[in-house]
Amino acid sequence: MKIDIPTLLLTLFAGFLLLSLQLWIALRGALRQPELRTWAQGSAAMLAGFGMLFLRPWTPLWMSALVGNCLFFLSISLYTKAIFRYVLDHPLPRWYLPTVGLFCIALLGMQHWVFQQRTAVVSFMLALMLTPATLLTLIRGWGNVAGAMRNVGLMMGLTCLAMYARGFDASLRPQQYAELMAGDLGPGLVLLLSFLCLMGAGFGFVLACFERVALRMEELATHDGLTGCLNRVTTDTLLAHTLERGRREGSPLSFCLLDIDHFKCVNDQFGHQAGDMVLRGFAQAVRSRLRASDVFGRMGGEEFALVLPATDGPGALRLAELVRQTIEQMALADEQGRQIRVTVSIGVVVAASDSGLSATRLYMLADGALYRAKHGGRNRVMLADEASDALARPAGTIEKPSSETVAGNFS
Ligand code: GH3
Ligand code: MG
Ligand code: MG
Repeated sequence: MKIDIPTLLLTLFAGFLLLSLQLWIALRGALRQPELRTWAQGSAAMLAGFGMLFLRPWTPLWMSALVGNCLFFLSISLYTKAIFRYVLDHPLPRWYLPTVGLFCIALLGMQHWVFQQRTAVVSFMLALMLTPATLLTLIRGWGNVAGAMRNVGLMMGLTCLAMYARGFDASLRPQQYAELMAGDLGPGLVLLLSFLCLMGAGFGFVLACFERVALRMEELATHDGLTGCLNRVTTDTLLAHTLERGRREGSPLSFCLLDIDHFKCVNDQFGHQAGDMVLRGFAQAVRSRLRASDVFGRMGGEEFALVLPATDGPGALRLAELVRQTIEQMALADEQGRQIRVTVSIGVVVAASDSGLSATRLYMLADGALYRAKHGGRNRVMLADEASDALARPAGTIEKPSSETVAGNFS
């Protein structure tokens, strides 16, 4: 059985043309990513390579074979560069381009070889050039947040295998490779498989770039850019959701409001940048004390919240006290090496599964307890009391005592 190679090449050419068009459209839209631009350049080089194959009847053989293969090498190098940038955020390894250059020079010396020999060597060269990006996508890209990188890895793997298979086959059964357009079924199918999979890797790469943008947008919509905590809207939503879930499952929920003490003084004394650094350090220190199921959000400025599912009063107070001590012991330094120390006041409220408390009410109670913690001297944990914290303080009414922060009173 035979396969019509010119038709096959034309189909591949059309496929890569389609991919290039898609990439061009994607690059003009919201997906203006450098890796995608590099992949688009690789696809353009691939198209030009196929173009040289079509020109074979009208051009000297050295030109179509040499220029065509060099264009394929360029294309694979660009794909590899895009993958290294995407997965590792690194440029190509230093040895890569000199190796490709050596392959191109070697092509010059192969001009008078018979087609079978050239096919075997060029297939091995292409497979070798594909190997680093294939291993990288399969090993490091597999766990990538963008699941589409797995498709890219699989497609690259298949392309690589098909190229090695073509190289071995051409070495072992040279009679099957008398010339490019001779369409024996086996070699034809392997050729088709290798370029089809490479095209599939291209579509997968577009998807992976798209997925990464979508994930970034989701992150921006739900998280605070400075500290990496959840933002206020998301924290409020999760509080209401967790409260409802606790009610259904019969488990309590605890909610804590945390406010850094005298934070304005940190900004005044060390500058706003140092203040930002303290906020990041604070968030990191608190996070180190939490369980995976705990929700940690930044409610605004230097005020944070904790939603603790399935946590009763003693558990919440224990955690809050641990957080208070962690912050008290946290030592940060500004750019000039000056030590910055802060403390935190925490208001805690517990909602039993049958309490009927709403999220708004919980917030008011925790805020009331925080107000008492501030009034009591700061750097302390206070448990909300329905009677005394029933009415939340009006915003911004915390008075600052003139004394320094005192040690926490909770034990
Ligand atoms: P208290 O102990 O009563 O909570 O005093 P405080 O100084 O912490 O509270 P106040 O509300 O007076 O000041 C909060 C300060 O937090 C004022 C504001 O400039 C600062 N702040 C809010 N958001 C940021 C931020 O993103 N970065 C920095 N560096 N500072 C911030
Ligand atoms: Mg404060
Ligand atoms: Mg505040």
